[in-house]
Amino acid sequence: MPDKDERKVTPRSQDFASWYNDIVLRAELADYSPVRGCIVFRPDGFAIWEALRDELDRRIKRTGARNAYFPLFIPQSFLRREARHVEGFAPEVAAVTRGGGEELEEPLIVRPTSETIINHMFAQWVHSYRDLPLMVNQWCNVVRWEMRTRMFLRTTEFLWQEGHTAHATSDEAQRETLTILEVYRSFVENFLAIPLVVGRKSAAERFPGAEETYTIEGLMGDGRALQCGTSHFLGQNFAKAFEIKYLDEQNQLQYAWQTSWGVSTRLLGAIIMVHGDDQGLRLPPTVVATQVVIVPIWRKPEEGAAVLGAAKTLLESLEKADIRVRLDTREGLSPGFKFNDWEMRGVPLRIEVGPRDVAGGTAVFARRDLKGSAAKSTVPIAEVASRTPALLSEIQESLYRQALAAMERETREFQTYAELKKQMEGEGGGGFANIFWCGNPECETRIREETRATCRAIPLHQNNPAGNCIVCGNPASERAFFAKSY
Ligand SMILES: [Zn+2]
Repeated sequence: MPDKDERKVTPRSQDFASWYNDIVLRAELADYSPVRGCIVFRPDGFAIWEALRDELDRRIKRTGARNAYFPLFIPQSFLRREARHVEGFAPEVAAVTRGGGEELEEPLIVRPTSETIINHMFAQWVHSYRDLPLMVNQWCNVVRWEMRTRMFLRTTEFLWQEGHTAHATSDEAQRETLTILEVYRSFVENFLAIPLVVGRKSAAERFPGAEETYTIEGLMGDGRALQCGTSHFLGQNFAKAFEIKYLDEQNQLQYAWQTSWGVSTRLLGAIIMVHGDDQGLRLPPTVVATQVVIVPIWRKPEEGAAVLGAAKTLLESLEKADIRVRLDTREGLSPGFKFNDWEMRGVPLRIEVGPRDVAGGTAVFARRDLKGSAAKSTVPIAEVASRTPALLSEIQESLYRQALAAMERETREFQTYAELKKQMEGEGGGGFANIFWCGNPECETRIREETRATCRAIPLHQNNPAGNCIVCGNPASERAFFAKSY
């Protein structure tokens, strides 16, 4: 019996990047592909994406957007129509120059994002104020040629949703931008149990072609920030580039006002890096494929029938309660090996049943979110199914609370620029620096060049908005969160 688990991961505190890769591979979430920079989603990884996608899709549709699908290829000329957009994306664009054995007259871009082709279509669909608002969402893959890649976080091809809307007024489009930002915030915090800083981007960090970019930023276990989603107010930039015009109620021709917004498979990376520990993944019950695993334990063959019988009864009662549950009847593996295996895969709750438990009419709960004796409790078999849903909710909340405490521990205010620089020294993260910044791009550039921390977000809710810029000392009316990031 393989008692020792050969698949132990690199400790998180020792080498965060190796720990992350070990988990992705050993929990069988993804694998490297023969194409450099691309990954293969394995079923356990794709199941998380599906759960996340299905829930977010419901929430997006509730705002009035509907799903559509646009082509993978975009005529190269489309990208050039919005100057900042082409400038922003040109370095990472992949193009098809041959097809059907011939050189193409105009190369086709493999979409890095779909503003251009969607707006080309919007221009044909929008004629009057009655056609507005037009709200479309698309779940698809996009390609951005990346030199340095990392599974889920930065890959050449990735999956995402991109929403695109057109409105009659600037106010309405700005409201839409913030409505979606709030959809993202509540989804990531409540469904993925990841606490966030919510704010707008500095001009330097804006989406190419946007008037304003809003962001939700999480803090990963190594103290680096991860942009978890963005919502852009595009003003009339794309409407003018693509001639999206409508007749208003006074019969005047107007350009539409627009938004776009997206989240991607990066969120899988966030889940791993925020919740995972040295034993492996810790997955929120909402997104995990298997919420509960039952591990029957016996040594003597004559005990097997009674233990398995009790385990099967538990399985049926949990299935009836709509719990995603599995019974681990794999032979030739020790209970210890099975425990480690399911811990690695992040299953939130393990139920152990042995001969003594069966005799006493009980089972043992072992929670993945807690350690040691706090994780274990004994529950009457008859109550397992009725108590599990509440316990899973509690685990969800506990993961969020732990992540929030970690983010708060790693969020610092600084009185001097020297303190900020010292905190950001070294290869590691450094956490969020919550500082006064005057808004001058020169101060932002200096911080970036000297500390490698960038402006992640200028929080929407400012508590104490009067101080002095940490770099130049000039009056600052806002605080901003700076961090090294993925
Ligand atoms: Zn300044």
